[in-house]
Amino acid sequence: MGKRLLKLTSPMMKGDDVKEFQTLVNAKGYSPGKIDGVYGNNSVSACKAFQKASGLSVDGMCGDRTWAALEGRRTLKKTSPLMSGADVKEFQTKVREKGFDAGAIDGKYGDKCVAACQAFQGAMGLSIDGICGKNTWAALDSDGKPSLEKPHSAHFKLEEWRCNDGQDVPVQYYGNLQRLMDKLEELRAYIGNKPITIASGYRSPEYNEMLRKKDPNGVAKNSQHLYATAADIKVAGMKPSEVQKAADKIFADGGMGKYSSFTHVDVRGHRARW
Ligand SMILES: [Zn+2]
Repeated sequence: MGKRLLKLTSPMMKGDDVKEFQTLVNAKGYSPGKIDGVYGNNSVSACKAFQKASGLSVDGMCGDRTWAALEGRRTLKKTSPLMSGADVKEFQTKVREKGFDAGAIDGKYGDKCVAACQAFQGAMGLSIDGICGKNTWAALDSDGKPSLEKPHSAHFKLEEWRCNDGQDVPVQYYGNLQRLMDKLEELRAYIGNKPITIASGYRSPEYNEMLRKKDPNGVAKNSQHLYATAADIKVAGMKPSEVQKAADKIFADGGMGKYSSFTHVDVRGHRARW
């Protein structure tokens, strides 16, 4: 059984969801009397006390928002109908404080929340999925500042990642690109400071789709290039096989793909080889 809107009715509502309510509200310090699975006057009183303390409207009825507050923070993602509740409001408030626009603080996890979540994740170097789970909640709670600074390093420039269709790397991916640049500096030092050319850097969603139409098997739908975590590189005076040997070491925890005229490297956060 799903969770119903619990309220005082005659006869009284009964069930496992009532029992769950009673257990949760009791754990929060508001006694509903006996944990008997019956939504009676004691349950209403406990519900009201909890609602008052939680800044919810005090009606003694356990609906979506009260459930969410009782359950604590859920993993927020886009669903149909949209997830709503106090935890969504909390997400919206916190992500705004970090400098990302999630639209109105309306307690609904819609498209703007997903976009703000992705932007925040990218800036914090988390995996970008638009789902606010444990790691994203932890980052929202932390004092860590998102990196919105222009990525830079001794030998690489942001402009080298500009998409071939002219679109610049979106600000939310600056954190990703900085991690990639740092790795490429390591690689550059490892190969004796030979200059590395970025043959392909960031790809806009439109550009990636265009490439996929031309080569459905060769271009990934969820390509790392979409998130500015990847580069296809060339090194003058080195064969791709030599570059690949070096890249295999430096990008041990990331992606590396061998191609006849270039090498793909990325900082996806786990090892991948092809
Ligand atoms: Zn690539």
